[in-house]
Amino acid sequence: MGPRQRDLFDLEPPPWVLDDTSEHGVAVVVFAEVPYGPYDYEVPDLLRAQLQVGARVEVPLGRGDRMRVGYCIAVEQRARAGRPLKPLRRVVDARSLLSPAILRLTHWMSAYYLCPLGQVLDAVLPASVRDQAGTRAQLFLRVLPEVVAQLAALRLPAKQAEALQILALAPQGLTPDELARAVGCTQAPIHTLRRKGLVQEEMRRVQQVALAAPSRESAAPWSLNDDQQRALETILAPLRRPSHETIVIHGVTGSGKTEVYIRAIEEVVSYGRQAIVLVPEISLTPQTRRRFESRFERVAVLHSHLTPADRHAHWRRIAGGDVQVVVGARSAVFAPTPHLGLIVIDEEHDASFKQDTAPRYHARDVARERAQAEQVPLVLGSATPSLESWYAARAGAYRLVEMPRRVSSLPLPDVATIDLRTRSGGRRDRGAISQPLYQAVREALRDGGQVILLLNRRGFSTTIQCPDCGHVVKCPHCDIALTHHRVGGKARCHYCDYDIDSPLACPACRVEGIRYAGLGTQKLELEVRARFPDVPCLRMDSDSMAKPGSHEAALDRFRAGEIKILLGTQMIAKGLDFPNVTVVGVINADTALHFPDFRAAERTFQLVTQVAGRTGRGAQGGRVLVQTYSPEHPAIVAAQHHDYAAFARDELPIRAQFGYPPTAAMVRVVMRGPIEACVAAFAQHVAAQLHAAAARCHPAPRLLGPVPAPLPKLRGDYRYHLLLYHPQHAALLDVVRAGTQQLQPPADVLWIVDVDPVDML
Ligand code: ADP
Ligand code: ZN
Repeated sequence: MGPRQRDLFDLEPPPWVLDDTSEHGVAVVVFAEVPYGPYDYEVPDLLRAQLQVGARVEVPLGRGDRMRVGYCIAVEQRARAGRPLKPLRRVVDARSLLSPAILRLTHWMSAYYLCPLGQVLDAVLPASVRDQAGTRAQLFLRVLPEVVAQLAALRLPAKQAEALQILALAPQGLTPDELARAVGCTQAPIHTLRRKGLVQEEMRRVQQVALAAPSRESAAPWSLNDDQQRALETILAPLRRPSHETIVIHGVTGSGKTEVYIRAIEEVVSYGRQAIVLVPEISLTPQTRRRFESRFERVAVLHSHLTPADRHAHWRRIAGGDVQVVVGARSAVFAPTPHLGLIVIDEEHDASFKQDTAPRYHARDVARERAQAEQVPLVLGSATPSLESWYAARAGAYRLVEMPRRVSSLPLPDVATIDLRTRSGGRRDRGAISQPLYQAVREALRDGGQVILLLNRRGFSTTIQCPDCGHVVKCPHCDIALTHHRVGGKARCHYCDYDIDSPLACPACRVEGIRYAGLGTQKLELEVRARFPDVPCLRMDSDSMAKPGSHEAALDRFRAGEIKILLGTQMIAKGLDFPNVTVVGVINADTALHFPDFRAAERTFQLVTQVAGRTGRGAQGGRVLVQTYSPEHPAIVAAQHHDYAAFARDELPIRAQFGYPPTAAMVRVVMRGPIEACVAAFAQHVAAQLHAAAARCHPAPRLLGPVPAPLPKLRGDYRYHLLLYHPQHAALLDVVRAGTQQLQPPADVLWIVDVDPVDML
């Protein structure tokens, strides 16, 4: 980012000192697109009073002086020197869109994720806020006290005089319509006052939507059990000091974590402060929302189906301090709460907290930074904490609270594995459901219970392969096997949505009878319907739940008992609470186990544990059956015993041995483009630059690659990646910054840096 970097960190908005004429006002401006800046602009005298740090401005850029909108990130008084600066043309936002705290946070993100500040700002501010969605320009009239003082001398007609008197009582001003209504006159007298210049005119933006106030049913809270009480006190201690602390709540599913969050937030609210609760997008259900709305008066739920106007209205309410609790997905970590008191991240291990476009931030790390800066506690809750959080807790950087029991002493469900390699576990007729699982489902249904079946692959058949020549039908853009979808008979790419009619003959050798293999949720659904003919069943995956609201509607039907068997992808594994589910079946626990990803075991452990948590929540108890080809794998054994600590004990030494996170920092550089040779050559060049930079660092970071990425071609682009590891995050970033500073990729080749990557494909 060049020589101005230094300025990005001393950020207190400087006071406006205007009397010294040898100095002038300089606005520092950054852009969301190349060139990112920062650039300096002269602030014309006329615009000085209007300009706030954190507002957008329109400025001329480049030789042609094309007008561009950028963010003003600092305003400084400087002695005039050297070449005169270009003046900024217009102030776009009358008020700053960013509080000093959020602005500071964006500087941290820019430095930590190696992402231009303008791009970070664009991500932090919702587009609806930038566009002022749902507002319109409205004329307001006001009257100056001097005019009112001379009212008698003006000898105005009665209506005009009355209008001025009424205006004098409205310091915020009135619209012409409001004024006419208050006076009981037409627009004519008002028009005359405007023509005579007796009133001041001002255009302001006003909100068009009125947000509906939710009905509030006051829930009678139980008294907390001992584990909950202990967890609550751990949060309240730093809250009362007040100071920052990160608290990891490792609580089994159903241990009453949410109730603990709510009690802590009640305390926050009693101080007149606000809380932010982050949950995975998929958990932003009406139930979650009702749970918070039943306990707090003013809740803003930020979900992805909000209209831009509603999103903007929420943002304004939050910024105005009018909201007590903000509940939302990843980006809610930027909620502009004026007096933050607490941040909670529920299901903190969830991969959706990492953004996969620039800035590639992780909400957990941004939240920690924000909580630290604003001196408030951060709570990370999960039944399966990320190893990052666990490791930090073990090292003493975070405080750990265990909640090992379910509320009301319900036991955790029994988990049994079914070895798919053996005869008894073998699948009858090559079906997906083994005999023991079939029996368990039958018994559950006979006893009036409900069943959940997890299969983490959508579609019908996951490969289409010729038995003669071995040809696999792949996406021409992605080099990935197409998945056969029964509806419409299409073979579809799960990355780019490319599809063809599913072939009957081999496209390569023309032999008829190409084979459809591999199991997807659609095929599982067919098998369930065939083997449990009269049992109402429902498939839940991103194909069947494409419409907004269909996910909640389906869950409502399941909760009501109308559906007996719910089958689907990980969508069904998360955070749902159904007391009547007595059997959970995992169709294939190994789907994630053999991914080329160092977190494969962790993902598998999380998925099995989370889905197992969906049962045994009622008096009838519950069982979990896990079908697997590797029942002895430590991640599966640990999940079977509900033993997170054992999983971490097995896994952390492996991470340490290979220098993987969380024992080291990691950066991934991905290069892509339509011509493989160009991408490969550029990747070599990047590697050479990074090696040169690494040579100046002691100890040197480990650098792997460049190699084709595990998904070597996506959407028409060939992909290569480089992986860097180092024990120290800061040292690693220095190397990556130095090694990528002068990069000039050839046309058509793009590259990205992913700090703390989650997606390894
Ligand atoms: P978690 O978030 O750990 O999965 P929840 O907070 O959702 O757990 O609690 C699980 C269930 O137990 C919820 O239905 C909740 O209403 C109930 N619950 C929570 N705390 C108590 C308590 N102290 N006594 C009785 N029921 C409780
Ligand atoms: Zn594709």
